[in-house]
This record gives sequence, C-alpha cells and structure tokens, in this order.
Amino acid sequence: MAHTTDATDEHAEIREELLAVVRQFRDKEIIPNAGRYDADDVYPVELVERMKELGLFGITVPPEYGGLGLDILTYAQIVEELAYGWMSVSGFLNTHFMGCFLIKTFGTDAQKDRLLPRMATGEVRGAYSLSEPDAGSDVASIRTKAERDGDEYLVNGTKMWLTNGREAGLVVTLVRTDPDPASRHRGMSVLLVEKEPGERSGGITVGPNIHKLGYRGVETVELTFDDHRVPADMVLGGEEGQGFFQMMAAVELGRINISARAVGVAQRAFDESIRYAQQRQTFGKPIAEHQAIQFKLAEMGTKLHAARLVCYDAARRKQRGERSDLEAGMAKYFCSETCWEICQEALRIHGGNGYAAEYPIERLYRDAPLMIVGEGTSEIQKLVIGRRLLEEHAVD
Ligand SMILES: Cc1cc2nc3c(=O)[nH]c(=O)nc-3n(C[C@H](O)[C@H](O)[C@H](O)COP(=O)(O)OP(=O)(O)OC[C@H]3O[C@@H](n4cnc5c(N)ncnc54)[C@H](O)[C@@H]3O)c2cc1C
Repeated sequence: MAHTTDATDEHAEIREELLAVVRQFRDKEIIPNAGRYDADDVYPVELVERMKELGLFGITVPPEYGGLGLDILTYAQIVEELAYGWMSVSGFLNTHFMGCFLIKTFGTDAQKDRLLPRMATGEVRGAYSLSEPDAGSDVASIRTKAERDGDEYLVNGTKMWLTNGREAGLVVTLVRTDPDPASRHRGMSVLLVEKEPGERSGGITVGPNIHKLGYRGVETVELTFDDHRVPADMVLGGEEGQGFFQMMAAVELGRINISARAVGVAQRAFDESIRYAQQRQTFGKPIAEHQAIQFKLAEMGTKLHAARLVCYDAARRKQRGERSDLEAGMAKYFCSETCWEICQEALRIHGGNGYAAEYPIERLYRDAPLMIVGEGTSEIQKLVIGRRLLEEHAVD
C-alpha cells in the first residue's frame, strides 16, 4: 500500500527526495547489517557517520542554524523508514530531536547559537534525561538537584535509562532547583549539560550499557553527577521552574517518534509476513490460502493503516503548534500496542522460523515491547487520554 501523503504541501518535493535517499540508505546499509549489529550489540559507528553525512541530525533544525528546517510529519516519515530497517537507528534520532526541539522552542538566543549549528551536523548529539532509578512515570519525584553556586550550578544525583547517554555531547537534564516549591511540578528546571562523549566528563560518570531484550546497538546507560558544574546560563530559556512543562512539551515529540517507529516496525513485520505466507506451503497450498492466515493479514493490514493515520495526524497537529498531548498520547498508545500485536501475529505466521534469529521477525518481536514503555507506558498514555477526554466533555 502506498503511504506517502500531502503531495501539495510546502515540503512535499524535498520530503520525497529525502525519503528516497533514506530508503536507499535503509535498503543498502541498514537492512543487510542490522542482524549482525543486533546480535553483537555493538554501536554501529558506520551507520551513525552516514546519518551525519546525509544531514539526518539536522532535519528539523531551522536553516539559519544549518539544518533542513523540515516539518514534523517529514521527520515522522523518516523515522518510520529507518525503523523499518532497524528500530535502533530511529533511536539515535529521538533524544537528539527532543533536545533540538527544546532549544529551538524555549532556548535563549545564546543557547541556540551555541548548540543548534553543531547539533544540525550531528557533531554534538543529544540525550534526554528525565528518568531516575526511583522516578519514571512519576516525573515530579526526581531527586537530582542543582544548587546555585555563583555563576554555576553544582549538580548531584543519578539519572537512569539515558538513550545515547555515552555518545551524546549534550544531555538535556531535568533537575530539581527548588527543594521547596509552591507546587509539585514547579521547582524543576532543565539544564543543558555539555559533556565529552565517553565514560567520564568533569563530574559526570557514565555507567556500562544496560543489557536489553532488544533495541540493541543504541547505548542505554545510567549517568551519575558528582558535584558536576554547569554554567548558570545553561538553564533552558534562562528561567528556573519551567523544567517540567518544557520536558513534557518535548515528550509529545518523543511520542510521535515512538508512534512513527512503531509504524515502521509493524510495516516490516507485515511485509515479511505477507511474503512468507505466499511462499510457505502446508497441506498442499500456500498458507496465505488458508482463511485463518488471511484473517490475520487482514487484521494486521487494517490496524497498520489506522496506526499510520493517527501517527501522521499527531505529527501535523504538533507541527501546527496546537496542543497535542491528547493526539500524541493516542498515537503513542495505539501505534505501540498495534505494533506489538502485529509482531506477535507475524511470529505466529512464521511458525518455527519466527523464533529463529535467521529471520527478522525474531528481532522485531524483541524490539517492539520497548515502544510500549519508552516515552511513557501505555497506562500513562491512558491516564493522559482519559483526563483530556473528561476535560473536553466536562458536565457543568
Ligand atoms: C530502553 C529504554 C530506553 C529509555 N530511554 C530513556 C531516555 O532516553 N531518557 C529517559 O529519561 N528515560 C528513558 N527511559 C525510561 C522510560 O521512559 C521509563 O522506563 C518509563 O517512563 C517507565 O518508567 P519506569 O520504568 O520508572 O516504570 P514505573 O513508573 O515504575 O512503572 C511501573 C509500572 O507501573 C505502571 N504505573 C505507574 N504509575 C501508574 C499510574 N499512575 N497508574 C497506572 N499504572 C501506573 C506503569 O505503567 C508500569 O506498568 C528508557 C527506558 C527504556 C526501557
């Protein structure tokens, strides 16, 4: 099924050109190597370097800062194509784009000038650090603190689950700046923490890679701040107390990324399944001719189509600058759960071969569950969706 959209919009031509380049990169460089990188759980330096050459780290950065200035729908479609090849590749972009978005939207001119040009080229890559060992869904319970000391902040605490945490040159970090705030969600600020890629940088220690079920090749790490000094002018937007709201605005973009990568992974599982179903024979005919398999394919194809539509709708809404917590939450919830369902069905269609690492389904099946957890679990999406629906349908 063809799934490009909006042929008449302002970015249509450049989007189609870039998507063609990305598909070529996916087919020639990602797909042939993904199995090996996944099996060895190694950081794919070559792929990241190619992504820099292709300008992928600067897709949404405004042209005046050296980026392509493209819209969020184009970003989502690129993420989808990359995830079709290997979900981990889309993970190199997500935290980076959340960082670019935060600086572009809330940063001071000095912060934009300092960081965006180097982020557009991928010279500086971004990590996004909200979670802690004892705080994930409950963001307001973070403990990492930043105390003002002259022109600097002294940062102490432990952050958890940092995707791209080792290779990043910038960690967008949520910290507590006011130990006694008027409300639970005030008192937190975002610090733009620059560091050298690697294990140690100033008072920062990066832990070993967390060994994961899937989403391999992308490092996910713990990061500890021990009296680490950050210049005071690196508070995002120059104002304390805005951190929770700023990070939540970026999470909406992260949820669109997850939705898009879920669509990409689900499309791959579907394509592999429909091909396999027409080749594999049982009881004298291709399994695709058994109605039970056709029903599976029909359900998979229908849900995949719906997932793509909600994902693109959320991307467009965010691009228009409209409030999009409801749509991003719905897209994230629906796309991630649908992807997981489609991967399970794909495994069934592949029979024993679905369980063999030789076939891509085995990897898709391990990668898919991350999307139910990352950027807020399905339960948290349902809380967001439920709250917003009740708000919209309030009875006087
Ligand atoms: C591979 C990977 C990469 C990640 N990358 C990053 C990253 O780059 N940056 C970052 O900041 N974080 C990252 N995370 C963390 C991720 O965002 C959190 O794991 C996620 O938000 C869930 O938080 P938690 O693990 O603390 O679970 P918890 O909050 O402890 O939740 C445990 C369970 O309780 C449920 N639950 C919690 N509260 C409620 C409630 N009120 N009502 C109903 N159910 C509830 C949850 O849905 C879940 O099922 C990553 C996680 C993984 C696995």
